[in-house]
Amino acid sequence: MADIRLEGVGHSYDGGQTWALKPTTWTWRGSRAYALLGPSGCGKTTLLNIISGLLTPTVGRIFFDDRDVTDVPTAGRNIAQVFQFPVLYEEMSVYDNLAFPLRNRKFPKAEIDRRVRQVSELLGLDPVLRRRSRRLDPGRQQIVSLGRGLVRSQVAAVLLDEPLTVVDPALKWTLRSKLKEIHRDTGHTLVYVTHDQTEALTFADEVVVLNDGAIVQTGEPAELFLSPAHEFVGHFIGSPGMNMLPAEVVGDVVRVGPAEVGQVTGDLPAGAVRIGVRPEFVRITGEPTSPGVAAQVTGVDRMGAYDLVHARVGEHPIIAKTEAGSPHRPDTAAFLHFPAERTFLFRDQVRCGSL
Ligand code: ATP
Repeated sequence: MADIRLEGVGHSYDGGQTWALKPTTWTWRGSRAYALLGPSGCGKTTLLNIISGLLTPTVGRIFFDDRDVTDVPTAGRNIAQVFQFPVLYEEMSVYDNLAFPLRNRKFPKAEIDRRVRQVSELLGLDPVLRRRSRRLDPGRQQIVSLGRGLVRSQVAAVLLDEPLTVVDPALKWTLRSKLKEIHRDTGHTLVYVTHDQTEALTFADEVVVLNDGAIVQTGEPAELFLSPAHEFVGHFIGSPGMNMLPAEVVGDVVRVGPAEVGQVTGDLPAGAVRIGVRPEFVRITGEPTSPGVAAQVTGVDRMGAYDLVHARVGEHPIIAKTEAGSPHRPDTAAFLHFPAERTFLFRDQVRCGSL
């Protein structure tokens, strides 16, 4: 299981006018499960194709451990890949499709059988092992593709590009936990591309967040949720995403309009900032709090497990996620308190301090 090291790796499809992937230096450490998370068009597939060798980067070098593979084609990189849609030999049985990558590399028959049965059992393919692949529905075919990607234990890395897109939503939770189980067993270096935060957060040891061709933050799922370093991460992760409010640093206090909402932690020059606080951590009451800010409730979504209370501070919308059955009603006054340890300050979208 190799470390995969990018040194200044970037790619432009238009001769350097725009970067689909800006020059990036980053190491995927061996045996870890990574999610590569970002919105459509941010450069995820470009980055994955550079790792697999389907694309040669415009600039930079890529290493598998100490081996420079920048000019090595895919076949020479010992990579397993799973794409968004099934890639199978349709006339072969499920068993033979799973066995194919191992037979191809002349594994002993008994070892092939052991691995195929292990993967098949984990992915729930036992009942269809003898069936021809073309007779399965697309979701099941994709699970076979996933199995093919995971069946070899000795690979430099397993690359998965949105592998659960065509799988039934109800099955996704099960498959993600199976994938985790297989990863624990094989210790693959695994890179899982997704634009779905739930997929990334439930599956990965570490999440790499990509936006506009650049890595904006990497970290364990909880770290990205609790301590976003960039406004984009605050918005993109969380449901709903982080609230942002214009504010002002005056001396060592932070104000929203005339209201003081807290003390600045650390040294921060006076001036405009944006306050970021997740809906989960906004405290909303009917009584004034100090520090705190007055708001107007505009609506309440009763979600069953919790409520989303929508409010406005001046013109700025803000959402508080509260226990179900909150007493707040539309068109009433409320007061918001932003807890110090969970409220961050941003300048030019980058975190510059906290309350
Ligand atoms: P998606 O989730 O929609 O697949 P992505 O995050 O994987 O998106 P990429 O497919 O890597 O993003 O695309 C990054 C940028 O590069 C986009 O602006 C895209 O339009 C552009 N791009 C991708 N492939 C090509 C290509 N073959 N030729 C020209 N531009 C391309």
